[in-house]
Amino acid sequence: MSFYFHSMTPIPNITTQTVNLKEDNHVHTHLCNHASGNMEEYVIAAINKRLTSITFLEHLEVDILYFERTWLTEADFVYYFKEGERLKKKYQGQIQVMLGIEIGYNPLAVNLLKKRLSGYPCEKIGLSYHFLFDGNKHLNMVSRRQENIDSLTAFGPDKVMTLYFDGLIQAVQELDCHVLCHLDAVMRHYPDLQFQESHWNQVNTLLQHMRDKGTMLELNTSGFTLRNVPYPCQHIVKRAIDLGIKLIAGSDAHRPEQVGRDFDRLPAFLSYSRN
Ligand SMILES: [Zn+2]
Ligand SMILES: [Zn+2]
Repeated sequence: MSFYFHSMTPIPNITTQTVNLKEDNHVHTHLCNHASGNMEEYVIAAINKRLTSITFLEHLEVDILYFERTWLTEADFVYYFKEGERLKKKYQGQIQVMLGIEIGYNPLAVNLLKKRLSGYPCEKIGLSYHFLFDGNKHLNMVSRRQENIDSLTAFGPDKVMTLYFDGLIQAVQELDCHVLCHLDAVMRHYPDLQFQESHWNQVNTLLQHMRDKGTMLELNTSGFTLRNVPYPCQHIVKRAIDLGIKLIAGSDAHRPEQVGRDFDRLPAFLSYSRN
């Protein structure tokens, strides 16, 4: 079964779900070390796109053994919340600025994650799972770098996906998060990724836990660029809607010009059933 087989499958009832296209619930800044632009540039980009709300969701990772830092330091977070407060005031009346954190789940450091989170005046918590421990070091499950793809291939794509979804199922129960980010972006740069029946079952279990905890599902529009549909795909979105899970839009912008990217494609994505 191909990962993308379903991308144009008509989905009944999907039109009943509405998503607020005037709010971008997921942007980054240069602070994470792999994005460009400062916080104010993102706020201005959002105003220029006539958005009513922008949520920074900066990367927090703990105890990750990786060759480079792709998340904020503790000092970065101090600056982030301070600068965020300034921007909230400065642009009050023009746009709502929200300060959030995208947690990278680490099953071996849950208490530390909770401790770090509790120290911040965070308004929104997004849950992701980026780094998988291979017993020796961490593998980046969402990277496009060839060395990461090679490591994931050696580890076994099936095994990576199984551990990824197992991790998220555990994370949703252990941590109180508002939204689950880019649910099926695992190994997004791996060619011809095969989703097995067992993975669909895991996704189903994950969505049930999200419903029980009231966790929202992100429609991450960075997927449009790579595969023509957001993360996650229609089958998962359809299942989420059936379960009554709330959907929100996030661009996952890593450059100011990516704020609100491809939001105009979401209504069509949500209403393929009419075609
Ligand atoms: Zn990032
Ligand atoms: Zn992410």
